[in-house]
Amino acid sequence: MSKQISHNACNTRRCSVCGRVFPLTPEYFYRSKHKPKGFVYECKECRKQIQKQRERENPAYKEWRKRYSREYWKKYYKTEKGKIVHYLAQKRYNNSDKGRVALLKSRRKWRKNNPEKYAAHIIVTNALASGKFVRQPCEICGNKNSQAHHEDYSKPLVVRWLCDKHHREVHRHI
Ligand SMILES: [Zn+2]
Ligand SMILES: [Zn+2]
Ligand SMILES: [Zn+2]
Repeated sequence: MSKQISHNACNTRRCSVCGRVFPLTPEYFYRSKHKPKGFVYECKECRKQIQKQRERENPAYKEWRKRYSREYWKKYYKTEKGKIVHYLAQKRYNNSDKGRVALLKSRRKWRKNNPEKYAAHIIVTNALASGKFVRQPCEICGNKNSQAHHEDYSKPLVVRWLCDKHHREVHRHI
């Protein structure tokens, strides 16, 4: 079998651990910028085994890897390209069944942990629906797609209107 596809060697790779030949695609190999053709030498299965082995031998390695990758991605997502990649991945995830369930769960959790915020949001939503309240454009940039921001949740109808971006900025400064 491996002989048959060897003429097509540029599109396949023999795993350096198990010796099986797989198409050289992300489905079978992890990507690595530093390896030839952008993929590592071991197939995914073997790579996972190696990873597990390492974690068994050195429990600190697992921690280190987790932390390293979290920090790596955090930094990556701040770059222009990373922002787009993150946005698209998030969108795909939110549209998946798993993502929808997670979203509902996180909303429920948020409501439970932030009852006063949730109550304020309901009051604003109802006031908007009844016409008692009119949505204003973002007070900073004028974007019509604005959200109600509460400085004090005990005064649910005292809000500042902010677009998504400026709303986030305001929260970062609190
Ligand atoms: Zn393998
Ligand atoms: Zn704005
Ligand atoms: Zn807010």
